[in-house]
Amino acid sequence: MAEKRIAVYPGTFDPPTLGHLDIIGRGLTIFDELIVAVTDNPEKVSLLAADERRALLTEITRGMAGLTIDSFEGLTVDYVAARGAGAILRGIRTSTDLDYESHLALTNRAISGIETVFVLAGPQYGFISSHLVREVARLGGDVSAMVPPCVAEALKKKLT
Ligand code: ADP
Repeated sequence: MAEKRIAVYPGTFDPPTLGHLDIIGRGLTIFDELIVAVTDNPEKVSLLAADERRALLTEITRGMAGLTIDSFEGLTVDYVAARGAGAILRGIRTSTDLDYESHLALTNRAISGIETVFVLAGPQYGFISSHLVREVARLGGDVSAMVPPCVAEALKKKLT
C-alpha cells in the first residue's frame, strides 16, 4: 500500500478566516491527511489565545475527514518531522505573499529538506487577511464576509 501523504498547514490563524478554510478544504484534496497547526508569531501580539484559535478551527472544520487540529511551539520543521508529515502547506494571496513565502520555504528546505506546497487563494478570498479582520472587528465593523459566523461571534465577545 502506498504511504499516506501527510501535510502540516501551520499558521497564526488569529483569527481563522474563510481564506484559511478554503486552503484547508483544497489541501484535503491533495493530501490524505492534513494537520492544521496553530502557532504564535513572535513578531505579533495575538488577539485570540492559541487555545481559542484552536477551538475555532475545530468548530469551523467539523465533519471534514482526514483533518487534525493541533498547536505547537518552536520551529515549524521540527514539528513537521515529529508528526511524520512530508510537506508544509501554505496559502498564497499576492506577489507579496509569494516573496515572503518562497524565502520561508527555501529556508525550511535548506534546514530540514522538507518541501512546501503552495495553494493559490480562491479569487473570492484573496483579499482576506486576519490582520484586517482584527482591525475591522476592533472598530466595530461587520466581518461576516471574511470569517465564519462563530469566529465573528468570538471576536465580538473578545472585543466588548
Ligand atoms: P502566518 O503568521 O504564519 O502567516 P496566517 O494565519 O496569517 O499565519 O496565515 C497562514 C497561512 O495562510 C499563510 O500561508 C497565509 O499566506 C495563508 N493565508 C492567509 N489568509 C489567506 C487567504 N485569505 N487566502 C489564502 N491563504 C491565506
